[in-house]
Amino acid sequence: MNIKLKNLVGLSREQLAEELELIDEKPFRAKQLWHWIYHQGITDFDGMTSIGKPLREKLKAGYEVCKPEIGLEQTSTDRTRKWLVKLEDGNEAETVYIPEDDRGAICMSSQVGCTLTCTFCHTGTQRLVRNLTPAEIVGQLMLARDSYDEWPTPTNGGRMISNIVMMGMGEPLLNYENVAIALKIIMDGEGIALSKRRITLSTSGVVPLIERCGRELGVNLAVSLHAVNDELRDVLVPINKKYPLKELMQACRTYPGSSNARRITFEYVMLDGVNDSEADARALLLLVKGIPAKFNLIPFNPWPGSAYECSNRETIQRFSQILLDGGYSAPIRVPRGRDIMAACGQLRSESERQKRTKTASAS
Ligand code: SAH
Ligand code: SF4
Repeated sequence: MNIKLKNLVGLSREQLAEELELIDEKPFRAKQLWHWIYHQGITDFDGMTSIGKPLREKLKAGYEVCKPEIGLEQTSTDRTRKWLVKLEDGNEAETVYIPEDDRGAICMSSQVGCTLTCTFCHTGTQRLVRNLTPAEIVGQLMLARDSYDEWPTPTNGGRMISNIVMMGMGEPLLNYENVAIALKIIMDGEGIALSKRRITLSTSGVVPLIERCGRELGVNLAVSLHAVNDELRDVLVPINKKYPLKELMQACRTYPGSSNARRITFEYVMLDGVNDSEADARALLLLVKGIPAKFNLIPFNPWPGSAYECSNRETIQRFSQILLDGGYSAPIRVPRGRDIMAACGQLRSESERQKRTKTASAS
């Protein structure tokens, strides 16, 4: 009989201890296993040499340490790397690594697709949506660390994968429970040990969960603002109809742990003739008044059938200058990995398109 093995990746420390109790083992074994899985990066029980053979055999009989499979790995000419991650049910998620000189950020997905329908975002047009499990979220980081040979966890601080941004596919606060388990695993000091200061969660504005995210996880917050009034934001980011700007800005104002040293990032996609006027920039300054804020101006990344165009360079620069003059940092994001389509939502869409093309030509 084929027994389905239970994956130990993605269990919280408490869940791991409970699992060991179920097989009559002492809770301290959880600490040992944790070290092998998340510090050493070992997936084969036989490689866990501090664990005696009888227990290793017991573990092998009921459990596995399993990461998602890589469907495709591509590296751009600018060294941006992208993985198409194959999930057990045949779905796919995407993960991107954006390198800087001696460090870099992993952009991780929280869902397959997204239930929200921001009109400028390709992910929002994908019909199939489901939450990623904690294992699938942590697994994305583990795969990336395999790819950069970053096991065991470097203890001298010198890591290529130094930061995480939850800015891939999906709305992380609509999958809060799983994202929280995954991020707690990633932040645990005895494993992957990435500090909460190096993790940023980006939300389109799921207001009721913002406070909890700050209190429980303490990660940096990025808010996809994109518009300075409800009328326009209702169109661009429709969740605004449920949680309008006033409520969103209030949640930002009281975000636990934010300070001038740890500012909230306001992301603002630059859409030609839609939200990019000088008046918009000045209104933006008024909107964030009293909030420890910084901005991230994102040139719109067009996709086939999108209704918008990217603002021109001078307009973006002028917009940025107004925010700078107002005393805020307002860098313009440099598009990375264009040749491998590493922008939000594009990878999976492209592979879906190819699949459809294949099916069509086969029939
Ligand atoms: N759902 C979350 C996180 C994922 S989207 C959120 O909305 O914040 C990550 C960022 O990419 C968001 O700021 C989103 O608004 C932006 N984005 C989505 N599609 C884009 C596009 N076509 N061009 C530029 N930025 C885009
Ligand atoms: Fe979802 Fe974020 Fe895209 Fe909006 S921008 S559809 S919230 S992934």
